[in-house]
Amino acid sequence: MSKKIKITVFNSKQWVVDSFSKINQKFHFELDFQETRLYSKTALLANGSDAVCVFVNDDVNAEVIEKLHDLDVKLIALRCAGFNNVSIEKAKEIGMEVVRVPAYSPFAVAEHTLGLILSLNRKFHKAYNRVREGNFALDGLLGFDIHGKTIGVIGAGKIGQTFIKMMSGFGCEILIYDMYENQEMKDLGAKHVSLNTLYQKSDIISLHCPLTKETFHMIDEQAIEKMKDKVMIINTSRGKLIDTDAVIKGLKSNKIGYLGLDVYEEEEALFFEDLSETIIQDDQFVRLQTFPNVLITAHQAFFTKEAVTNIAETTFENIHDYFIEGKVENSVIIE
Ligand code: NAD
Repeated sequence: MSKKIKITVFNSKQWVVDSFSKINQKFHFELDFQETRLYSKTALLANGSDAVCVFVNDDVNAEVIEKLHDLDVKLIALRCAGFNNVSIEKAKEIGMEVVRVPAYSPFAVAEHTLGLILSLNRKFHKAYNRVREGNFALDGLLGFDIHGKTIGVIGAGKIGQTFIKMMSGFGCEILIYDMYENQEMKDLGAKHVSLNTLYQKSDIISLHCPLTKETFHMIDEQAIEKMKDKVMIINTSRGKLIDTDAVIKGLKSNKIGYLGLDVYEEEEALFFEDLSETIIQDDQFVRLQTFPNVLITAHQAFFTKEAVTNIAETTFENIHDYFIEGKVENSVIIE
């Protein structure tokens, strides 16, 4: 019998162990689950593996890729869509293949985005606690009709389009900023506009573009300045799209009326861990939590049964294709 392909699966919480072990019954890989993130100090854990499987907050920088290469690891399999945490230049330079899961459920992320909007607007999280405490007063819970409002969508790819369809169902006016025009979205009534127009006219701005050099801190002081007073900003894409200092300033001055985040600039040090018994050292994050009009979830937008199953299946298919079929379907390198 030929040797089993061994994969070190970094950042393995229980849900990863459960979903990947279940889908692996079809693939029969040797899985080495490591609870720690992959970064320079933990790269050695991949010793003896053919591939590493990593997630959004693993730090696959140039040094890590060199170390993996020295250990004879052949493949980096991302179990997510974004690849901003991998040094693609270094992987290219030394010939290390990097694959990803380009789509697993745009519905999961788009629906979570909608959930943040509805919760911030109608304050479900506050109402839930009030009613449980026997407080049935309505003061402080006043919301607004989403129907008729203008929604600015930055990045109308798979998730952005799914979100646009939902918001169009609410009877909203949709403005899109993307490099590419999309006829299906135009047919729904959405308008492609400049970034400035989107900032000036939107009641709610939702980010669905990838994190790149161009989009890093795109929501900064200048951008916020151009927005409507009391704007709602939602980020379910990547934390570094937003300059946290700038949004804190915008919240303090009441320019930003609502902020919904599923991702955060410095989330690597916080998200996916139970830190409830520790002292959070990130003062900006703690400050954000003090605003009554900020709602943060810890990178859970993707987290549905359907998405998790698709993630495990595509990740293993990518690894099977590379080692068994000798082909690469979802390479990040050639994109
Ligand atoms: P996608 O590639 O289908 O769409 C991205 C869109 O952004 C494309 O239409 C592209 O043209 C556009 N774009 C690229 N650069 C842009 C720029 N500078 N300005 C405006 N638009 C730009 O990707 P997707 O599947 O829709 O995912 C979008 C993002 O959502 C991912 O990059 C990822 O960061 C994030 N994401 C988050 C979660 C989560 O759990 N919170 C899960 C999956 C994906």
